Amino acid sequence: MICSRNGCENRTPTSRRSNAKYCSDKCYKAAKRVRDRIDYSKRKLLYAIIKNNDDTLGIFHRLGQLVPISFLKSYDFNFESWIEAEYIEGEKVYSMFDFAYSIRNLNGNKWVKIWDTISI
Ligand SMILES: [Zn+2]
Repeated sequence: MICSRNGCENRTPTSRRSNAKYCSDKCYKAAKRVRDRIDYSKRKLLYAIIKNNDDTLGIFHRLGQLVPISFLKSYDFNFESWIEAEYIEGEKVYSMFDFAYSIRNLNGNKWVKIWDTISI
């Protein structure tokens, strides 16, 4: 087998486990460092997205009412990212840090109800 580390062309020596993906501990560790860096940057990106969502919900929470979904979209709100989703009083509520939201359909329009996570 050829080493799985990007850029290494060495064969994995027969002295290593038969299913070893890397030719050496050095290549194994180098590949792990790359994976860790990728994981870290993904977590950092996800955190930034959820933080923006949370800040946006915080801005509109002060209005204390249902907010048109377009208001959140104008703040680059990402509806695909949240920390936790749970059903509360029959509504699916998506939690960030301090705030959460649910979507309601009223008169053919979508509205966002903003929850303070303390009250959930
Ligand atoms: Zn290698």
